[in-house]
Amino acid sequence: MSLISGLLIGCNTTPKYASYDDYPVYDGTDLELTYSPQSSAFRIWAPTASEVKLLLYDDGSEGGAYLTKNMSRAEKGTWTAKIDENLKGKFYTFQVKIKDKWLNETPGMWVKATGVNGKRAAIIDFAETNPDGWDNDVRPPLTNFTDIILYEIHVRDFSISPNSGMKYKGKFLAFTERGTKNTAGEATGIDHLKELGVTHVHLLPSFDFASIDETKLNENKYNWGYDPENYNVPEGSYSTDPYNPVKRIKEFKQMVQALHQAKIRVIMDVVYNHTAAGKDSHLNLLVPGYFYRMNADSTWSNASGCGNETASERAMMRKFMVESVVYWATEYHVDGFRFDLMGIHDIETMNAIRAALDKIDPTIFIYGEGWTAGASPLAEDKRAVKKNAKQLDNIAVFSDDLRDALKGSWQHAEIPGFVSGTDSLEESVKFGVVGATQHPQVDYTKLIYSKAPYVNNPTQIINYVSCHDDMCLVDKLRESKPADATDDELIRFDKLAQTVVFTSQGVPFLYAGEELYRNKKGIKNTYQSPDSINQIDWDSKTTHKDIFEYYKGLIALRKAHSAFRIPTQDMVQQHLEFLKFLVPNVVGFVLTDHVNGEVWKDILVIYNGNRKAVKVGIPAGDWNLVCHDGIINLSGISEVKYTTFVVAPSSASIMYVK
Ligand code: CA
Repeated sequence: MSLISGLLIGCNTTPKYASYDDYPVYDGTDLELTYSPQSSAFRIWAPTASEVKLLLYDDGSEGGAYLTKNMSRAEKGTWTAKIDENLKGKFYTFQVKIKDKWLNETPGMWVKATGVNGKRAAIIDFAETNPDGWDNDVRPPLTNFTDIILYEIHVRDFSISPNSGMKYKGKFLAFTERGTKNTAGEATGIDHLKELGVTHVHLLPSFDFASIDETKLNENKYNWGYDPENYNVPEGSYSTDPYNPVKRIKEFKQMVQALHQAKIRVIMDVVYNHTAAGKDSHLNLLVPGYFYRMNADSTWSNASGCGNETASERAMMRKFMVESVVYWATEYHVDGFRFDLMGIHDIETMNAIRAALDKIDPTIFIYGEGWTAGASPLAEDKRAVKKNAKQLDNIAVFSDDLRDALKGSWQHAEIPGFVSGTDSLEESVKFGVVGATQHPQVDYTKLIYSKAPYVNNPTQIINYVSCHDDMCLVDKLRESKPADATDDELIRFDKLAQTVVFTSQGVPFLYAGEELYRNKKGIKNTYQSPDSINQIDWDSKTTHKDIFEYYKGLIALRKAHSAFRIPTQDMVQQHLEFLKFLVPNVVGFVLTDHVNGEVWKDILVIYNGNRKAVKVGIPAGDWNLVCHDGIINLSGISEVKYTTFVVAPSSASIMYVK
């Protein structure tokens, strides 16, 4: 009897596949739901299911289904159902039977609107999610990726502080507020970003994540959000009403629109590399196993360090990722994507994403972490890791080599870097200066991590000294400082670190609040720390005015001078020449001959990592000093007429000839 039923299932009901490569691939664009006032057509991909049900609800989280409908097996592993009524305002889930077992309900992985906490899908009219003027929303202009200045911010950190002056604290809508001020009356929020001069806001995860209970927002819980629930839906806790499926979508769009009006582009942090749940994720409840990599012993592989890792190399996962970013770029007008643990994804998928976004707008920026957080079954030569970055088309990776050369090891908080006076890091700093490209004057054997240039052009490298992960810059500098270093010296270390970031070739990246000398009370990885640790303290803008002015000056220098924004390796090789100094822990270079349309003829930059002043030889010329001893003044500090020059302790000097 069991043999016969087994055969029946095998032949007539449930197809069997020898491997995931044999699963049918559905190439249509109508997965999940196609809504019109006349009908709703549902389609999901579940090739191994023996039965599939559609359940309809009146509410997004409460009560039982008012209708349950069996779905019909359709082409390429899909199942369909159609209801000829206007279902606007209703909610639904799917339920899949595998062999003889009904799995838990799921809104599906292609879901685009949900009720509270993302457990049921919502049927809405997307036309109602568009704010006024949305059709006229355009991306601010961008020529080269090296013109970008990234500002990484968590939605809640931006506004939650009592001194933010913002009304919509912790919400997407805080990014729509203008004229907001801190206690001393200085600009906060978007006005502050305008004043600072950044070109792109990079939002920490803002898709629907699992760690915050959207029904208990009065608890004021905090999380970074690297725990995906629904990839194609905005996070509910950042909306003014997570129960209303239209609001979170509309408010996300209002945020994008307001940033665009402020001439700031918007980047989403995307986390396709793993899901918050494993066995019961919305992916796995459709097609168990397919979307994830497993170890040889059938346990879940875990290159994410979060319990599972997705399998981008499988056709339907690749299709999902490509369509998801295209969806955010088109429906929400998002201007770029930062891929969390991009090294878990395969090169072919990342290049497919680049190609798909190029069709929409080639100025959409893509970058990611070129590493994994653990071992992966995916062969290393297929991974989108920094070592393979030359095979990634116009996709950038983070330079951990420059980061840790400047401030010291991320793993060992007590170890200082170049800016705090540590010896023998000059070549890693130079590697940062040339944007991780090939340059004849860099000795790649002396780098702290890599042993070779890893990108084709500076457009492919993100230069930074800190981000949300690990200690923020101020905490790291304090933790690793030489025993006798003073608070004033810490400020010198801080300014020097960011001067290297902003005068290096590549794309500079700033962690929000560092322009206000932000600290996180020494806590590493504050992913679930309270607001008191994570919030931007806007009054720091007043107490650390000098830091803010310096950072603003660095950004103004970079934006006004294209020599710092060279787009190609060839041009860097021809026009960036390192100086040879007899003093250790000093790096200097000249950008020559109006490179990349530069208005100044030559620019000389010197970083002194020593805690004492150093005298160095410089090329003869009528130099004009614009940055020196912790001060930036683009209209000129003084003239330099001699071929020896004294660089102040732990600081940078920048000068030019006309
Ligand atoms: Ca959520």
